[in-house]
Amino acid sequence: MRVACKIEECNIQGDDEPTIDPDRPGVCAICSRCGDEALAYGTGEKSIRRALMSLREECSRGEDNFYVAEEDGAESRMPDPVVKPWWQK
Ligand SMILES: [Zn+2]
Repeated sequence: MRVACKIEECNIQGDDEPTIDPDRPGVCAICSRCGDEALAYGTGEKSIRRALMSLREECSRGEDNFYVAEEDGAESRMPDPVVKPWWQK
């Protein structure tokens, strides 16, 4: 299933296990289902994707979830399904 994750910018430090600290800019992805957090360095789209990847590894608990960034306009980027009138089906 699709799990929306809140993306927050934060400062993190540490190499193996990043922790929140006013050191380096990073992003924090927060799972909307269980509240798990995953951190990644940087604030670009790649960093967000990396945070979502580790969130998937860490908190899906065997579920085949697809973690996506929950941000303004994220839904509207997906084209709306075209609903055909009944006589065209
Ligand atoms: Zn989770």
